[in-house]
Amino acid sequence: MFVDMATITVTAGKGGNGAVAFHREKYVAAGGPDGGDGGRGGSVVIVTDSNMSTLMDFRYKRKYKAENGADGSGGNRTGKDGKDLVIRVPQGTVIREKESGAVIIDMSDREEFTLARGGSGGWGNKHFATPTRQAPRFAKAGLPGDDIEVVLELKLIADVGLVGFPNVGKSTLLSVISKAQPKIADYHFTTLFPNLGVVYVFEDYSFVAADIPGIIEGASQGAGLGHEFLRHIERCRLIIHVVDISGCEGRDPVDDFEAINEELRLHNPELSVRPQLIAANKTDIAQDSELASRFLAFAEERGCKVFMISAATGAGVRELVLAAAEELSKLPPVEVFESEYVPPERLPGRPEDLSIEVFGDVWTIEGPWLERLVQNVNFSDYESRMFFERVLREAGVYARLIDMGIREGDTVSIYNLEFEYIE
Ligand code: GDP
Ligand code: MG
Repeated sequence: MFVDMATITVTAGKGGNGAVAFHREKYVAAGGPDGGDGGRGGSVVIVTDSNMSTLMDFRYKRKYKAENGADGSGGNRTGKDGKDLVIRVPQGTVIREKESGAVIIDMSDREEFTLARGGSGGWGNKHFATPTRQAPRFAKAGLPGDDIEVVLELKLIADVGLVGFPNVGKSTLLSVISKAQPKIADYHFTTLFPNLGVVYVFEDYSFVAADIPGIIEGASQGAGLGHEFLRHIERCRLIIHVVDISGCEGRDPVDDFEAINEELRLHNPELSVRPQLIAANKTDIAQDSELASRFLAFAEERGCKVFMISAATGAGVRELVLAAAEELSKLPPVEVFESEYVPPERLPGRPEDLSIEVFGDVWTIEGPWLERLVQNVNFSDYESRMFFERVLREAGVYARLIDMGIREGDTVSIYNLEFEYIE
């Protein structure tokens, strides 16, 4: 079975905890704090793999987790960073957030993307020593890594999509214009997954064609398999609409043509304006010339280009391929989806939502806005610390603390950070 949609949960590693430790040496009475920081949690990184063509691998494994950072330890030893987890996906995979359906990233034009970032490690107690607190007996816990449920959706990146009723000869046509070896069936049974083939037109020019199976009536409402495959067509720049002109199966090519186009339109109105070439196939066994001329007249009325071909004998196929190549040269490149997803750290600041709690002289401030801020600030850098101070002040955090009665020398505790309040 062809799987082109999968839901997975990715979790980046948690940061390691900071250590509480004190320097101990024989004959040294009271050593200072030397608890090291926790390591950073590993991230989950998405990488495209051109050898993959389905999302099959994601059917059975749904949860992906990167390694946690190791805890810090005494002697100023920083914990080891967690290893990143690399997930390989086929090119053309679109990743959406499950909850909102928003596109996070389209992997068709990039090779690597960090989907979930590891949490930062907590600070060891060595950071918390102050002139008045020389033996801090606390350290900070590491922060959790990003955790997100996403839908992977594979939309083929084919320049040309071959559409049409079952049995009209799509797979046969693909096999003769490319080196692909799709299943060719003699019965009304849809090919189970879209086949891709590279069509070499000239020595230095080729395009990719896909045989889109099973668009049958009602497919856009979910009847039959066709619906599953309609999404692949969305990205094709050009459609080759194959009809059986022979009349052998008692089908009317005009009805078939209209029915397929209606399905495309219902699935996505944009598809009804996608350029189409018509391949009127099976001319080698055409019995009813009246049927063929009626179809030609109908197509002409609509201004559609028709190519009389026989996929079986190869007659007319080269002309069709050349026309497709020419059409493609005039069309814009394959559509890439824009990202719609706003990661939490880029959400507009909501400092009003912070919770402030007091235990004795320790003021604990928490809230997503602040958590993100802390994660993004590099506290070993003076400028960054000043920036952090300023943001807190401008957001009115200090004003709130003062209103609530904070006093000089009290401790302010913010995630992996702790400092003394100075007026
Ligand atoms: P699909 O369902 O559209 O992919 O159709 P297939 O490519 O599987 O073809 C269905 C049947 O039609 C097979 O038995 C093919 O051999 C046959 N066929 C396809 N093209 C032609 C053609 O041009 N002439 C003749 N005589 N038979 C064809
Ligand atoms: Mg087929």
